[in-house]
Amino acid sequence: MNKEELRRVWERFTEKNDFMLNPDKSLVDMVIDGVLENEKKHGLMLCPCRLRDGTREKDLELICPCNFKAQSVWKDKGRCWCGLFVKRGE
Ligand code: SF4
Repeated sequence: MNKEELRRVWERFTEKNDFMLNPDKSLVDMVIDGVLENEKKHGLMLCPCRLRDGTREKDLELICPCNFKAQSVWKDKGRCWCGLFVKRGE
């Protein structure tokens, strides 16, 4: 998948949801680059902002999009850990 395809997949993922892609396009670009780099290196589209511990279990938790609504940063700041997804209307 290339950068624009991934951006479109994520845009579709946010449609009809209470969150959207961060309007800061350069931040979204950075996350996309990091995820695609991880896909090349590790074969999985892993979050670029969180640390792997080398186990398969942890890797599966870090596939983007993760279960970000369970993160405390979502409740406190209305964004996922990387800031890729943000609450609408904030
Ligand atoms: S924190 Fe954000 S960027 Fe990282 S995996 Fe979760 S949804 Fe993706």
